[in-house]
Amino acid sequence: MKFLKKFILLLPLLIFTSCGEVYYVSSGGYTTKISGGLGLISKSQEIQLGKSYIPLAVEENNGLYPDKVVQNYVNNIGLKIAKYTPRKLPYRFYVVNTDIVNAFALPGGYIFINRGLLLVLENESQLAGVLAHELGHVNAKHHAKFMEKMLGINILYNILGSTIADKSYGQLLLQIGGLGVKLLSLKWSRDQEREADKLGILFSYKAGYDPKGLLQTFRIFQKLGKVDAPEWMLTHPLPQNRYIEVKKLIIKLRPKPNLIKDTPEFHKIKKRILSTKKSYDLYKLALKELAKKPSNVFNALNYLNKSISLFPNNNASLTLRALIYAKNKNYKKAVVDSVKACKIDNLYFSPHFIAGYSYYYLKDYNRAILYLNRAKKLIPQQPDTYYYLGRAYEDKKNYSLAFRYYEKALKLSNGKRGWEADAKLRLKRLEKYLR
Ligand SMILES: [Zn+2]
Repeated sequence: MKFLKKFILLLPLLIFTSCGEVYYVSSGGYTTKISGGLGLISKSQEIQLGKSYIPLAVEENNGLYPDKVVQNYVNNIGLKIAKYTPRKLPYRFYVVNTDIVNAFALPGGYIFINRGLLLVLENESQLAGVLAHELGHVNAKHHAKFMEKMLGINILYNILGSTIADKSYGQLLLQIGGLGVKLLSLKWSRDQEREADKLGILFSYKAGYDPKGLLQTFRIFQKLGKVDAPEWMLTHPLPQNRYIEVKKLIIKLRPKPNLIKDTPEFHKIKKRILSTKKSYDLYKLALKELAKKPSNVFNALNYLNKSISLFPNNNASLTLRALIYAKNKNYKKAVVDSVKACKIDNLYFSPHFIAGYSYYYLKDYNRAILYLNRAKKLIPQQPDTYYYLGRAYEDKKNYSLAFRYYEKALKLSNGKRGWEADAKLRLKRLEKYLR
């Protein structure tokens, strides 16, 4: 109850600081208004929250696409459009490895596009349309509005309160009712989709792109939907009237000469992505073999070996092969693959964890701690990391630190990990020793 009292005292302050946040976006003779929501979450809080989600988004999508040329190209197009949006944020655009046809935005201006979506696009204005649409969600503050609705004022106050003490509210949010996962797969309402479409059209037009690109992607998704609904349609409902509304808005815009429809660069980039498709198809086949009961490790390794020989930087395949090696106690090989994957992708949690875990079993405790600490920094809510940090420190005879890590591991694990009984035993032993 204490925080409630504090909250009541703080309430007028919150309201005063958050009022009146309304933006206007005009383009091609058309103006639209965006409301800022309740404004309970400040811009810097939103940015920090989004930042803390980046490694989760990377992990869920099997790592970043390991080609800097592709990453830079997409990021530059995104930034070119972001310049014309009203919210000044540290925008950043990432390509992730999955072949699921999807794109999504995190709070704070971090936008992700899947390799699979890039593969179905036909020209640059379509890519601009998709990125501009995601920028629409960010600029209409749909994440903040979602959180305000979901969390309610009390929890929000707790979060804001804790920010002052330590800056880890992003992690705190993750602990509340699995909100982390929710923020990654948000399903926007039809009104929010309409708003993002409208803003996306205006942003891409302002940046000099033919706004019909977004319309064309709708057609592509609809066609795909007849066979296998693209993920984008599940998180971005696409009824016929959305298509009609976008079309109407485009007609309203003043005609502008030299709008960009396509560039040769887009096709160069698409070729680069296409050239690695076979390698990723083999990765998927390996996953299928592992999902079988019992899983066929021999076949999976075969597919992964081929996949990596076709594309040596395939960080998803390297990570999966490292995992198989580690599970089969071939720690030396696991280290080679996972360390390479870490070098390719320093935002990818899994290879960092596998490297730390494998170094631990190779009794190289210093390297184990180094990689586990990096893994911990990427996804601080993952309990296994703390358990193995505890083991490494215990073996290094740093018992007080080992004790703290076992405690933390158990706090995060909620009875779902195989090592829990062992961790409890070690805690008891260390407690006696430390006393
Ligand atoms: Zn959307």
